[in-house]
Amino acid sequence: MSRQAARVETLFLHEGQGEYLVVAQREGERLFRAVLDLKETSAGPRPGRFRIKTDSDEEPRAPEEFVEIARRAERIRISQQTAERARAELQEMLSGYQLEATPVRTCRLCANQWRYGPITEETAIKTGTEYICRDCATRELERELSFSGGFSGAAEERLEELLFEVGDLDRIVDLLQGELDPELTKFDEISATTEDIPDVPVSDLSLHPDLQALLEDRFDTLLPVQSLAVEHGLLDDEDQLVVSATATGKTLVGELAGLNRLLRGEGKLLFLVPLVALANQKEEDFQAEYGHLADVTIRVGASRIREDGVAFEPDADIIVGTYEGIDHALRTGRNLGNIGTVVIDEVHTLQDPERGHRLDGLISRLKYYTEQRQGGPGGTQWIYLSATVGNT
Ligand SMILES: [Zn+2]
Repeated sequence: MSRQAARVETLFLHEGQGEYLVVAQREGERLFRAVLDLKETSAGPRPGRFRIKTDSDEEPRAPEEFVEIARRAERIRISQQTAERARAELQEMLSGYQLEATPVRTCRLCANQWRYGPITEETAIKTGTEYICRDCATRELERELSFSGGFSGAAEERLEELLFEVGDLDRIVDLLQGELDPELTKFDEISATTEDIPDVPVSDLSLHPDLQALLEDRFDTLLPVQSLAVEHGLLDDEDQLVVSATATGKTLVGELAGLNRLLRGEGKLLFLVPLVALANQKEEDFQAEYGHLADVTIRVGASRIREDGVAFEPDADIIVGTYEGIDHALRTGRNLGNIGTVVIDEVHTLQDPERGHRLDGLISRLKYYTEQRQGGPGGTQWIYLSATVGNT
């Protein structure tokens, strides 16, 4: 019995270059692969050339043979990557033989390797703008790991677990390149109850003189969360994720780092919040507190001009923006200058099923932007602020 005559469980059709790839499978094993052309007839599209592929060659077959195989198949599937017009053409051809085919979401990498790789909402792994199957994603990750080198078996396993949890290959690959992803990486956790923390006197900070003077006018000592941040490298360009209840002074953590770098000529401060109302409030606060030291501008939506007529000035020293506003500015290629410090307030939005994705995209774009620009000396410092991060 020839392999083509064996019982076909799934006949999978996928649009190739000017022809269709045909894959016959049974129990996950490929029985054979072939290419099919359609020809236009007065009765509609019909099989034209049909060729079985072997390792090194192609065997031309009668077009009727394709129809025979299709009739014997338990199910016929068309990849969703097949363009709608091509899908319609295939379906019209099949219906000429009273056969039906269902479009399914499949893995393109599998299809390129002549495999039928169905994916579901649950199992799909994102990469770039498309989705691939878990097997292909794992293989890609292993390839990346072998480039990066030096990962233990346990680390590999953990990364593969994360890959399935997060469902996003690019984010896991970014981790390998040392990108800080606050939702996924935890380098070092400092947790403390406020009683244990010695308050840092403001006079001990060696800030830029203007900022130092301003702070000394306002307080004698830092609050616990600020003290902790300073003791753990806030003013030495360390990236930090600061998780602390509201009204504990964590916003000043971002401002301290950002203003200090700004005044030292190490790049501007970009302060990001999720909502327009918060951005407006923040801009007013910055104007009031630091307006004599720095120019402040705001970017809250797609438009360069705010409703009240205030224009966005990308040259300003401090840019306050909503995630959406800054994302739009970046996607439209706006030059935001050298960003020394990025402060992302309410970063737990990453866990929000609706907005998390956008923030994640924004962080990636910003990382790319700041890496291209290099920021000031020491690169760009990232400070993530959150009142609640369920899972740090
Ligand atoms: Zn695949």
